[in-house]
Amino acid sequence: MTERFSFSLLATDGKARLGVISTPRGEIRTPAFMPVGTAGTVKAMMPESVRATGADILLGNTYHLMLRPTAERIDRLGGLHRFMNWDRPILTDSGGFQVMSLSDLRKLTEDGVTFRSHVDGSRHFLGPERSMEIQRLLGSDIVMCFDECPALPADEARVAESMRLSMRWAARSRDAFGDRPGHALFGIQQGGVTHDLRAESAEALRAIGFDGYALGGLAVGEGQEAMFGVLDFAPDMLPADRPRYLMGVGKPDDIVGAVRRGVDMMDCVLPSRSGRTGQAFTRRGVVNIKNARHQDDPRPLDEACTCPACRNYSRAYLHHVFRAKEIISSMLLTWHNLRYFQDIMQGMREAIAAGEFAAWQAGFEAARAEGDIEPL
Ligand SMILES: [Zn+2]
Repeated sequence: MTERFSFSLLATDGKARLGVISTPRGEIRTPAFMPVGTAGTVKAMMPESVRATGADILLGNTYHLMLRPTAERIDRLGGLHRFMNWDRPILTDSGGFQVMSLSDLRKLTEDGVTFRSHVDGSRHFLGPERSMEIQRLLGSDIVMCFDECPALPADEARVAESMRLSMRWAARSRDAFGDRPGHALFGIQQGGVTHDLRAESAEALRAIGFDGYALGGLAVGEGQEAMFGVLDFAPDMLPADRPRYLMGVGKPDDIVGAVRRGVDMMDCVLPSRSGRTGQAFTRRGVVNIKNARHQDDPRPLDEACTCPACRNYSRAYLHHVFRAKEIISSMLLTWHNLRYFQDIMQGMREAIAAGEFAAWQAGFEAARAEGDIEPL
């Protein structure tokens, strides 16, 4: 087991990259999808089940954990890994994005953000130094810089101002993070959909120097076409020998399109959140299990899937427990969705290794175009 954080690029196919991140808590195979464990749990899943889906790393949310149960309490209890019983790598976000999207009465200054908790209305402050402190108390393996990003569409002046503030905060984050062997700090490129702002941001981050680089400010309302438009040039602005992380993405076709454009890591609540609302992602597209067409259907959700929901249960059962609001409905559909997302990642990793990414993507798209199996 390594003592340091490192990234090895093993193969490329076009712009798609196969690699491995080594950390003292284990290896992360890339391209990697990170399930989101918002408040110290991937909802409806035991940690060993999350691991069984093929996840090498989880994401934890600084904003939620700082408010409840607080970073100081988690630290006293041995850190987030021990607290939530997940001994593999954890990446934490900086809290910046969620402060802006979830909290009340925000006040943004050069120093940071003052806000009221959405949980109990209490008053808090978050800036680069405090974000680094919280992520250290949590024991995060991959720490994200504190940043700010406007929802899109936004006018270019607002995007530029926000990006430059985030770059000043990136330098403060780097200083506050210090030297912590075995832990990584990632910078976050901003700049909206504008080429020159993305280039300016990448240059600022490279001058500071980070262990990895994220593409921020995407998947915030711009749509897939605009996002892919940015991903056609933005990843190339970041150092090739460091991991590239696209934050908050996405749907299966977003993920495949991002990997094709050179992204190594992604995270999204979609597979777990959708699992709780009766939506399943399959090789042949999205299935709404609440639809009455499934109520007499003895077939599995996805013939090709080896998850417990598909191996042991029928569509009729999954439909019934969703309608009856049974907890097992969320458990089974979340497991299936997380497994499907990890199967996509595994498929892409094998395809890149074999130099067959384009053929793999064509097969992925053809299966989706077929649509769900015909009703009985
Ligand atoms: Zn399944």
